[in-house]
Amino acid sequence: MDPHKLCSGKRIPQASIKDNTVNYILHNAYINGQPQAEAVLIVKNSIVHVGSLSNCRHLAGLAGEEIDLGGKCLMPAFTDAHSHFVEYSKSSILVNLLNCNSIEDIATELQRYRAQLSWPAEWILGGGWNRNTLSNPMTLNKTLVDKVFPDLPVALFSRDYHAKLLNSKALEIAGWDQHTPDPPGGRFERMPDGSLSGVLFETATEMIDAYTKDPPNQVMVDSIKDRVQSIYELGLIGFHSMEHQASAQLLRQAQSQGSLFRTCWHFQAGELDRMIAQEKKSYDGDEFFKIGGLKLFGDGSLGSRTAAMYDPYPGDVENRGILRYHDDELYRLMEKAARAGLACTIHAIGDRCVRQIIDATMRLRVEPAYKNLFHRIEHVQSIRLSDIPLLKSSGLFASMQPVHIANDIPMIHQSWGHIKEEAYAFRSMLDAGIPYAFGSDSPIETINP
Ligand SMILES: [Zn+2]
Repeated sequence: MDPHKLCSGKRIPQASIKDNTVNYILHNAYINGQPQAEAVLIVKNSIVHVGSLSNCRHLAGLAGEEIDLGGKCLMPAFTDAHSHFVEYSKSSILVNLLNCNSIEDIATELQRYRAQLSWPAEWILGGGWNRNTLSNPMTLNKTLVDKVFPDLPVALFSRDYHAKLLNSKALEIAGWDQHTPDPPGGRFERMPDGSLSGVLFETATEMIDAYTKDPPNQVMVDSIKDRVQSIYELGLIGFHSMEHQASAQLLRQAQSQGSLFRTCWHFQAGELDRMIAQEKKSYDGDEFFKIGGLKLFGDGSLGSRTAAMYDPYPGDVENRGILRYHDDELYRLMEKAARAGLACTIHAIGDRCVRQIIDATMRLRVEPAYKNLFHRIEHVQSIRLSDIPLLKSSGLFASMQPVHIANDIPMIHQSWGHIKEEAYAFRSMLDAGIPYAFGSDSPIETINP
């Protein structure tokens, strides 16, 4: 099939979808999955017939409106299996450092952002910085940000979201200084004199969330509505989104203001007790908004060298990454969720973490009452080849993001060179019959499928 003939971006006007009164006949297209068919008839937003054009016309009666697709390919819209859609939307209104490859670029972008800020900001948020691309990585610290924002607190996440950069004002608000100990599962970076550099890793990055303040509500809802409009062009109409409760509410607000998309919300660990108390269950919801699973972080990332590995990182014999949970702790958390009818959606990048999640899921599977829950493992960027059959028998669904590969190749050579064949073993996993879905992990990578 000629990919240039993909029917991307053709869409039925939204107003008509809402009023349900118009029947559509889509024709003159290669209909994916049914190449013999000439046309598709849509009545009240549902496909009711796929076949000859004359049959579709007959069934549509007078209320049929025909859309000539000009010989392109017609296929169902894509659903992105792993995104952070509100973060992606917010990236259009927050500091965006994704294209900055030097300290000078970052300083310029911060100045530009300050100059164009159009609402009264209480915190400066955003990010996308990547120390791996900087020639002088340690100069990315609070001092750099203080030069542009001496008066406003700033918290900027790293490209992989496993680190954050704060300025002095933010550290002051949080009350953190050289005497603050590292939290379990996290770290405050320290300067040679012991003072905090402003860079935080893993669980330490979450601790600042208690202090930060987002832009005004409607500014954020508008940014979601704008982003939804733009993803239609890419053939996307739905996404799984890993978000906080407040972000899920923004998605619902955008829907209530007429924005059309389907979403499945995977909630954070801090929200588990409330979800249980409210008797929310996985797969509750309607056509447009469903509850997915409890999103857990099993480990860190390759870029931050915090993905939990069997072998130490080259040149750093002490470092095998960070496992966020002990085996039993992870199992008990999954069991608590499962007892309430909630599945788990667990981030695992390193081979040691992947195995930990397989083992916990196998333990859970013994209980027949939990059989109807579909647990997911997110990313699986490395796996011992001998663990692939175990992954299959665990029943876990693999949610993977091929788009990460291109960016990760240099880091794989650097940090995982010794286990190259285990990195992104997608082919071996698919051959083993492991059920899978692809996603973008937007805004970490482009949402364009
Ligand atoms: Zn993600």
